[in-house]
Amino acid sequence: MVLKDPPAGVPNPLQVGEQAKIGGEGAVYFSTDDRFAVKIYYHPRPEKEQLLQQVMKLFSNLPPEQERFILPPLALVERLDGRSCVGFVMRRVPPRYTELLNFVMPRGAAEHFRRGRTWADYLKIARSIANAVVVLHGKGCAHSDIHYRNFLVNLEAGDAIMLEIDGVVVPGFLPPQVAGMMGFMAPEILTDGVSPNERTDRHSLAVLILHTILFRNVMQPLIEYDEDPNRSEELGWGRYALFSEHPRDHRHRPSNLGVPFYRRGALSYRMLTPMLQRLTERAFLEGLREPDKRPSAREWEEALAFAIDELWGCQRCRQHFPYPYERPLGERACPFCGERCRSPYPLVLELHEERQHGSFFPLRRIVLGHGFKVFADMIESSRRPPFSRQSEPILGHVEWDARRGQYRLINEGEDEWIALSASGRFSARKGGSVPVQKGCLLRFGEGKRVAFVVEG
Ligand SMILES: [Zn+2]
Repeated sequence: MVLKDPPAGVPNPLQVGEQAKIGGEGAVYFSTDDRFAVKIYYHPRPEKEQLLQQVMKLFSNLPPEQERFILPPLALVERLDGRSCVGFVMRRVPPRYTELLNFVMPRGAAEHFRRGRTWADYLKIARSIANAVVVLHGKGCAHSDIHYRNFLVNLEAGDAIMLEIDGVVVPGFLPPQVAGMMGFMAPEILTDGVSPNERTDRHSLAVLILHTILFRNVMQPLIEYDEDPNRSEELGWGRYALFSEHPRDHRHRPSNLGVPFYRRGALSYRMLTPMLQRLTERAFLEGLREPDKRPSAREWEEALAFAIDELWGCQRCRQHFPYPYERPLGERACPFCGERCRSPYPLVLELHEERQHGSFFPLRRIVLGHGFKVFADMIESSRRPPFSRQSEPILGHVEWDARRGQYRLINEGEDEWIALSASGRFSARKGGSVPVQKGCLLRFGEGKRVAFVVEG
């Protein structure tokens, strides 16, 4: 296979094996060194090469932390076996990645949980998906076909990679012929024939994110709207589209909603962090018919990143779930097995960041229990949780002091920590610890965030 001006690192000519996959649009080949995949179109539209060139230009110099979520075209194909053709070469996804579809149906998810994966892994996958869309939308492009077959996933690594970047909507080019997959398409595509755009992507992304963490399509119609099944589908996802957890209209509400997942229940969006609940309401209540109100991919990405620090472990089934600190103590239970949360309840801290000298604004909440680590990104100003904390410095940890019935924060960093509460002022240098209780204010050093103890 001969390529047109490939970048350094891509051999030319490229040796490929037999056809590996046959799709609707074209055939995929893998290079014999397993590093690359090549897509060759059967009947390309006349402007396809130009569009690919534009996509290549837009996505050619991505930083590695963005490039990992998508598969940009690296070079166009000139000839295959001596015949000229239209196609492109991209990175090959390692074979341990499989379609997201295999993970997000209730049975598939239950199987992965049995094998030791947890809901936290799914949260990371959802964050990867949001990240891929952030990269695309950041370049002014829309994907137009966001659904669970267009992401390849490695659950263990919490990683997802977006496929079909060659079908994106690029400004200045004709929109693609595919309007998306039923169940993920924004209702206005079905009702008004709107072409796929960034706003319709926002709807599909919200559906996919929630499918990934709740294991169901939250827009699934439960009523037949026409005798013709195709027409019924079109109406159910389009004109009569309705959020399954609409507060007043219960037509599409599953009968097992809110029943623990391991007892054949359906997870409610109300098990999510308050920030994710709010985005869900914006996407499916306010934004369903008003596309401008839908949350952006960036907002989803951030709320998913923050959710990782609000997880609590079930004492019975060992599953991880967002600690429901907004509910009364007696109503806090594991959404997977139904077990009530028991004492010792975790610490709930509200992180505040200094805006101007002396004025602090609330940023987000974190949930900490015995043995939890305090990472640098939690208390350093202007930091967000990194994708992986493998190389993130640990500045301290939490210990439950059973004798006194209170938590202590152990300082492992260089700054002095101070805890101010009604019972006094406590301070700790490296190796020391401060007691933490409700109402206490924690200072982690000059220029660092402060934390207000909401529960403890
Ligand atoms: Zn449980």
